[in-house]
Amino acid sequence: MAANQTSAQTVEVHDAKVLQWARDLLDQCSSPRMMQREVIQAVERNEIWRGEECLNLLAPEAPTSPTVRKLLSAEVGTRAAEGHIGPTERWFAGTKYIDEIEALCVELLKRVFRCNYADHRLVASMLGNMTVYAALTKPGDHVMTISQPFGGHSSNRVDGPAGIRGLQIHDVPMDPVELEVDLDQFAEAARRIKPRLVSLGASMTLFPLPVREMSQIVSEWGGRIFFDGAHQLGLIGGGQFQDPLQEGACILTGSAGKTFSGPQSGIIVWNDPELTRPVTDAIFPALAATHQVNRVAALAASAAEFLAYGNEYMAQIVANAQALGKALSDRGFAVLGAHKGFTRTHQIILDVRAYGGGLKVAQELAKANIITNKNLIPCDKPEDWDYPSGLRIGTTEVTRLGMKEAEMETIADLFVSVLEGQEKPEQTRQRVVEMRRAYQKIHYCFD
Ligand SMILES: *Cc1c(COP(=O)(O)O)cnc(C)c1O
Repeated sequence: MAANQTSAQTVEVHDAKVLQWARDLLDQCSSPRMMQREVIQAVERNEIWRGEECLNLLAPEAPTSPTVRKLLSAEVGTRAAEGHIGPTERWFAGTKYIDEIEALCVELLKRVFRCNYADHRLVASMLGNMTVYAALTKPGDHVMTISQPFGGHSSNRVDGPAGIRGLQIHDVPMDPVELEVDLDQFAEAARRIKPRLVSLGASMTLFPLPVREMSQIVSEWGGRIFFDGAHQLGLIGGGQFQDPLQEGACILTGSAGKTFSGPQSGIIVWNDPELTRPVTDAIFPALAATHQVNRVAALAASAAEFLAYGNEYMAQIVANAQALGKALSDRGFAVLGAHKGFTRTHQIILDVRAYGGGLKVAQELAKANIITNKNLIPCDKPEDWDYPSGLRIGTTEVTRLGMKEAEMETIADLFVSVLEGQEKPEQTRQRVVEMRRAYQKIHYCFD
């Protein structure tokens, strides 16, 4: 059947209307050149809207510096390089400068994360987590991971890499008010289950986790702690969060494009030499071949920025998140963790049931060019995925654009305008565009 036909048998996960829009548009194009122009124009529309006119408060996003962005389109991104760094470890000749770029990246990452080993070849942190499960577990092993209503991520659950590995997955008991691991319940459950691995991975993350205490408990039977720091990676590197490797976790993975503010991809770091073989054997030749050397160059450049600016930048992200949490709470919003100072990360979590739930609120805010996301919170069940009660807000991008605590008050006022119905979202949008106009430059970089 031709690709542009549909029938009752078509199984397509994407939204049918949007795909139809694309088919119609391509049908109207008089040549492939016109089709390419449509692609470029869609990119430009996004660049103007999200890049210049929105308050981007999505927690997993971060703007990269001009240098990092430029390196992403570098010539080296057309070169083939697979294997380990060095003349005999590669399949292809011609990699002498690629070896230099990759070695610089590895050594820069070790400096940022104060660790003995780092790998630079993961094109996503999902693959970092798959690496950990491949290296440290066998199918059928028992593991404990955080469930989604408490911030857990699919990569450590049955529908992600942990599930694909065929692991028996149990929940890490969490305290719904303190938003922390319930250590007593954890000790009881863990001593009963004796998991080979406990994964601490949270996409909703407000407070540090008791890594030291948990690793002492699992060491009773030779279990290990793996910290999936996708979100907190930059905060960890910048010394503004707990340091999981120092506290007993055996491996830290993370997303380079979240708080770390580098190119979207994965980082994995560890200290134990006995893990080097299993981890790197899982990376190459299992989960990475062509690992995008342009991306590696951009990652190395962002690590250098981090050495210079990481502490100051990450400290301001947390200060802004705390200020925004307080400003929203002062205006009557239900902010999770209010009794503990709102947050110790880049995130603020609202319970927005009073405003129609997370989906509705995120859509209303987006009409005003304020970009956030709906989120499960502890009162939700995993199946509430489409219509959860919470809203997640992150301060990484607004911080890198130079905003400080005073601007968080303005942002909280904009939330009130949209959600208390004081004006139409379209009217608020004009004020957002004007506010954003003054913040276009990327800070905390050498450019
Ligand atoms: C975002 C996220 C991931 C996946 O990271 P990618 O770099 O997007 O592949 C894994 N774990 C957690 C906890 C996350 O939040």
